[in-house]
Amino acid sequence: MSWTIDDADKTYGVSKWGAGHFTINESGQLAVVPKREIPEQTIVIQDVIDEMLSQGVRFPVVIRFHDILRSQVKTINRTFNNIIDEADYEGHFYGVYPVKVNQMREVVEEIVEAGHRYNFGLEAGSKAELMSVLAYNTNKKALTVLNGYKDEDYLRLALLGRRLGRKIVVVVEKFSELVKLIELSKETGVEPIIGIRSRMTVKGRGKWESSGGEKAKFGLTISEIINAVELLKENKLLDCLKLFHFHIGSQITDIRAIKEAIAEGARIYCKLFQYGVNLEYFDVGGGLGVDYDGTASTNDSSINYKLDEYVADIVYGLKQVCDLEDVPHPNIITESGRALTAHHSCVITNIIGEIDTTSVNFDTKKITGESHLVSNIREVEEDLDKYENWQEVYNDAVKLKEDSLNAFKLGILSLVERAKIETIYWRILKKVAEIVSNKEFTFEQETELEEYLSGQYLCNFSIFQSAADSWAIDQILPVVPIDRLGQQPSKRCSLVDITCDSDGKMDKFIDYDEGIKKTIPVHQLDGNPYYLGIFLTGAYQDVMGDMHNLFGRLNEVHVYAHEGDPKGFYIEEVIRGSSAADVLSTMQYNPQYMAFTVKKAIDNQISRGLINPRDGVKLVDFYEDCLKSYTYLK
Ligand SMILES: *Cc1c(COP(=O)(O)O)cnc(C)c1O
Repeated sequence: MSWTIDDADKTYGVSKWGAGHFTINESGQLAVVPKREIPEQTIVIQDVIDEMLSQGVRFPVVIRFHDILRSQVKTINRTFNNIIDEADYEGHFYGVYPVKVNQMREVVEEIVEAGHRYNFGLEAGSKAELMSVLAYNTNKKALTVLNGYKDEDYLRLALLGRRLGRKIVVVVEKFSELVKLIELSKETGVEPIIGIRSRMTVKGRGKWESSGGEKAKFGLTISEIINAVELLKENKLLDCLKLFHFHIGSQITDIRAIKEAIAEGARIYCKLFQYGVNLEYFDVGGGLGVDYDGTASTNDSSINYKLDEYVADIVYGLKQVCDLEDVPHPNIITESGRALTAHHSCVITNIIGEIDTTSVNFDTKKITGESHLVSNIREVEEDLDKYENWQEVYNDAVKLKEDSLNAFKLGILSLVERAKIETIYWRILKKVAEIVSNKEFTFEQETELEEYLSGQYLCNFSIFQSAADSWAIDQILPVVPIDRLGQQPSKRCSLVDITCDSDGKMDKFIDYDEGIKKTIPVHQLDGNPYYLGIFLTGAYQDVMGDMHNLFGRLNEVHVYAHEGDPKGFYIEEVIRGSSAADVLSTMQYNPQYMAFTVKKAIDNQISRGLINPRDGVKLVDFYEDCLKSYTYLK
């Protein structure tokens, strides 16, 4: 059976996690589908790489597909509008994008622009985010929702926004914020729009489930909410309370948690309305998940529902409770960040080498007087074909390797003998692995052996900068070769990055037959460049990265689809990643001073005759060039 593109798709799950935005073309290249409605229009990632290389942009690189971002904004708005129509729901949808998920200006601008016709707004969770939102969310019909803990300046900025005529909602997360807000409103004479975050008993499902529940960090209890209502009434500001909010956690894996949250939240909303609060908005927070591993399950990196199920559960769930309670249907707000941004960006890394300790070429020829341990393991190898039980071969080899290590520690085995034993040992294990992979044999340790023998591909990137959640919370991100998908991958590898941290590795991948594996199938390096893409990095990963080992921000290329173009796209912008001088400056170094000091030291050697002046000048230039250069490997 020969390998086909379908096999590649099954192996890497592209159509599973790709959400209609990724595909493998007939030449075995990974391609982006910028507009889901037009699946035949694609952008081949290798073409983007070629163009980027011709512009002198080096790896690793973030590629942003702005059309995907626009498409996601459109999709969520249309889905809500359609289901609202279909359900005869009387409220409107006013989504907001929480900028903390990806605060890059270009991302925020694109979302604001694509969302303008839907009056799609923004959400901020800190003072700095609020300042960006004040500058960018200028649509007076769109909402600005303010979450997070707030001090006086935060609240004053919100009131400033009100004076600009913006629909800014201050969501009270903590009772004392309300007291302060009432005070400031009196002082300035500006009426706020107030929201209240409710502490729900229902929890999300998945990694972030502690964002909900009684012990959550944010929100008011029911008794606090009633006290808040009374306080507002006393201060004649009850009409400012317009929004009911909850957020039960990000990446909700199980649709049942959403249903439960709507049921509970809708009931609180209605009871508050009946209590005399003229609420207008029902804000369900974030939590709409992304199927990173493509299994459509309740795995932490997956979700067991689709967007339209999520939307229908909100709209119909809310309608049902409101109708029963005879309360007008509120406008609906979601604060989805992950689902909007995850797909639009990816990280492309070049493989700069392979770490394989099992295939070292070493002469294992017999010599007189060698240790019997060497002779014994050699015999196992020579008699390999005579064995009937592969388990026995494996056990013998493992035992002999252990014995030889002990012998070495006792000083009765030489370095050369140890090297011979190890070389033969790996050869035996590989042979066993090859034979047992033929399904006629059952062999207990088959998967372990495969992983034990697998090598590592050394990737030019830092996991701490580009895939923080993969390191921190074992998030699975799809990894796929950019090209050669028409060829069957010939081996399995785990991936390591270029930081000097042994945690700097990726060794959790989804296998659609066997579940989670430590390795992924890759092609043999053949002297040509080999690129791997890490996908769905647009949410959180893009902006949470740190400066471990002083690897800074990546080069970025921003790509737009363009039908008239022969390759179907153009690079709208290139943003250079951090230079060594940039990252050193953030750590309080002064690169100019550093260059000066090194130059002085070189001058000193020149004057002592230890460096020739021409060489000295070159060394100074070289040091200065390196300061200006990209932090990653050339
Ligand atoms: C983080 C956060 C969001 C975004 O959640 P996603 O799951 O990424 O959509 C929304 N609302 C609040 C209050 C948040 O803290």
